[in-house]
Amino acid sequence: MTLVREYVERALRGEFDESNMPRYSPSEWARFAREIRVRSKRPVTFPSPSHWGRALGIDRCDTGPCCGSTACGAHGEIVYQDDPDSRVRGQRITFALVQVVSDRWGWGLTLNDTLGVVAELAWPSDIPLPLTDEEAIAANPYAPAWLIRAQVQRVRRARGNVNFGEFSPGQVR
Ligand SMILES: [Zn+2]
Repeated sequence: MTLVREYVERALRGEFDESNMPRYSPSEWARFAREIRVRSKRPVTFPSPSHWGRALGIDRCDTGPCCGSTACGAHGEIVYQDDPDSRVRGQRITFALVQVVSDRWGWGLTLNDTLGVVAELAWPSDIPLPLTDEEAIAANPYAPAWLIRAQVQRVRRARGNVNFGEFSPGQVR
């Protein structure tokens, strides 16, 4: 499955493709993302996504074609199409990683759920919001700027633009 920007942005606005409705709510997406972060025991909020894979015991994280997609996690391993941009690479690896753990841990995520969890890993909704979108984009070098922006805007809408605490890069929740 290829990640299409417009599709993801719509999903984060709650406008879902009817043939692919989410099974879970945004707060459950946040819980799944937190489980990935906690179980992988990475010391920072935004590690290189391949480190999540290694820490979770996913043996293979490699470049190559698979299932005609830029990212595939359908076979218990992470296979992605390489890209010189660490943000594009990070998004692909994260997408495949979420597919692998969904199968492995029995979450049964739909495509829209998978995208929701990918967005939660790009910017967790349960940490303080940054003052600006640019601050969030600078804090996570492994997700596309548009994805971080769409997620931060979703969280702002959900919170009614009320901020809690101060975000400090590197903190782990
Ligand atoms: Zn495949």
